[in-house]
Amino acid sequence: MKKILTILLVGFVSLLSVIVVSSVFFGTERSMDSIRFLSSRLGLLSQPKRNIDYLSYTSDNSEGSILGDFDIKIDHLKQDVYQAIEFQKKPSPFLVPTEGIAAHKNFLYDPVRHGGIDIWTNQEGKGVSRGSSKGYPVYSACSGVVIRVYQPNEEIEVECNRIDESFSEDVPSLHVKVLYAHMGDAVTKERYHKLSVGQRLTKGQLIGWQGNVSSIVPVNRVTHLHFGVYDLTRSGRPTVDPEYYIGVPTTIVGQIFKTEIE
Ligand SMILES: [Zn+2]
Repeated sequence: MKKILTILLVGFVSLLSVIVVSSVFFGTERSMDSIRFLSSRLGLLSQPKRNIDYLSYTSDNSEGSILGDFDIKIDHLKQDVYQAIEFQKKPSPFLVPTEGIAAHKNFLYDPVRHGGIDIWTNQEGKGVSRGSSKGYPVYSACSGVVIRVYQPNEEIEVECNRIDESFSEDVPSLHVKVLYAHMGDAVTKERYHKLSVGQRLTKGQLIGWQGNVSSIVPVNRVTHLHFGVYDLTRSGRPTVDPEYYIGVPTTIVGQIFKTEIE
């Protein structure tokens, strides 16, 4: 006990002398600023670590979309701590629609800011072969029917067939639609799919390739698939976490996705 008191006393005295000395040399104003700065830093450190950091683009929220294409340059993306996480799929009603990696924290699933998961072909944001934006193949996650094709962004919505009752405990809703986006090239406008409204799809069918087109934020040239799931039984058709449906975590940077298609 005595030891602790001594340490505290020594610490306090040292801090006081630092303040006095720095006040003499730099003036009271600047010393107080430094103390304020240091204490705010300490406060930040003591806060619980958040999984998702949105500080960098809070002001752009209105221009972002549920597709989550934000104006972030690729150089910044490379700063992320990267660690590949093993693929461990839980039993789930849908297929993982494409191969790749959740390469950056800003493109993970978040119900408010990013209503789906962005699966990048690779961490560099490039296509499979040099000079092309074309990424890994995309397969239909569920059986269903194409209900919307929005060309500028190469977005495709598919209303999935009703999911088997045996999954009712595992998923938030048995009646959903899924969204695939960015299946085209930003520059040449080449389309990486040939889907049309009314077309029937079967689970596992090849439907296209990952691309880098984004009509919402054209500077986003990352080759990826945006994959979202929406609950059709609730008003507003809210997004739900795709993890329930594909059985792979959608909120972890470095998560590897595999399609189970040979
Ligand atoms: Zn996205």
